[in-house]
Amino acid sequence: MSKEELECSFCGRKKPETNLLIAGLDAHICDRCIEQAHGIVTEESNHSSNNELTDELMLKKPRKIKEFLDTYIIGQNYSKKVMSVAVYNHYKRLLQKNTEDDVEIEKSNIIMVGETGTGKTLMAKTIAKMLNVPLAIVDATVLTEAGYVGEDVESILTRLLQAADYNLEKAQKGIVFIDEIDKIARKGDNPSITRDVSGEGVQQALLKLLEGTVVNVPPKGGRKHPDQKFIEVNTENILFIAGGAFSGIERKISKRLNLQAVGFSASMQEDVVDIDNLLKYIIPKDLKDFGLIPEIIGRLPVLTYMNPLDSATLRAILTQPKNAIIKQYEKLFAMDEIEFSINEEALDFIVEKAVEYKLGARGLRSLCEAVLTDAMFELPDSKEKKLEVSRVYVESKLNKSTIKKLKAVS
Ligand code: ADP
Repeated sequence: MSKEELECSFCGRKKPETNLLIAGLDAHICDRCIEQAHGIVTEESNHSSNNELTDELMLKKPRKIKEFLDTYIIGQNYSKKVMSVAVYNHYKRLLQKNTEDDVEIEKSNIIMVGETGTGKTLMAKTIAKMLNVPLAIVDATVLTEAGYVGEDVESILTRLLQAADYNLEKAQKGIVFIDEIDKIARKGDNPSITRDVSGEGVQQALLKLLEGTVVNVPPKGGRKHPDQKFIEVNTENILFIAGGAFSGIERKISKRLNLQAVGFSASMQEDVVDIDNLLKYIIPKDLKDFGLIPEIIGRLPVLTYMNPLDSATLRAILTQPKNAIIKQYEKLFAMDEIEFSINEEALDFIVEKAVEYKLGARGLRSLCEAVLTDAMFELPDSKEKKLEVSRVYVESKLNKSTIKKLKAVS
């Protein structure tokens, strides 16, 4: 057969009609058929990976989801329960697309209120890990309305695309964690007097994303790449989790609960109300009083709170979670064949200092670093293959000035 007579075994085109004809064992395929076949393959694999996610999730009932969260997050049982249900319902919603009735399940975007360092980011990270979906963590404080200095709200989706390695399908099923949502609360009660660049305008811009819309997203973000092509991202199935400390919101809660009233009724109420942890009683109205616009609150229908970490929780955080700090040090030392151990009293002392200096869970890591830096510097090339950390050892490494320095950076 002459070269000209060769043809594509799939569509029958002769070689001269094709751009490229690739030979197999006893067949040929042209460039067009390759492209078409490639399209089919991608579509199929996307399809099956979507189903995988939802199928797998349907197997993981809320209780199972919570069990997974338990392995990484200490305490916060209420929040974990609420989150498990929200995540379960969110992915159920993805399945309902195929049903024909008029009941449309709305999104279960979540808002978490709790002091910094209580595990809000960890919660979002753990959920993304469990579902194996991309996660973008963004800070609401850098967001501004389009046209102002700072990042446009769309940049959130640029991050998500990046986290998904630019796989649009995956990004559109991902999770966005918006930290410090409280910082874009409206400052004053009268929004119309001055334009509030970082407050209400940003909330309005965010609203669209939360509602579910198609956004033209610059894949590289920012306005520095004016020539880049936009990617259309549909936010309908993206799960948004917002978090914030809302410092001072307790006052609004206590006012609402009427705890400030003096006299007989107040003392009655204090018996039943846990005044040390007023966040427990938070309701959407408190967020509104704090300065979030009602529309945003409406689009974050699942409201939950994080408890402050007490010393028992801090102590557990050191050793219990799957990737607990102490386990990480064990692993690091083991890589140099060093047997690392730390006794109870030493751990208690670290927790004591974290509580005393109000360093929180994040401070535990810095305290451990301060204690172990010398050993991590010296041991890898020494003959010593064992490190036993006692309370005395910790005390010797953690003098007041070291802790003060930690406090300053935390
Ligand atoms: P937030 O987002 O609320 O400021 P993070 O999630 O960033 O807090 O938590 C700060 C650090 O403390 C992280 O390293 C996290 O692993 C740890 N941490 C906080 N709370 C918990 C918890 N309940 N269980 C396990 N680790 C926690």
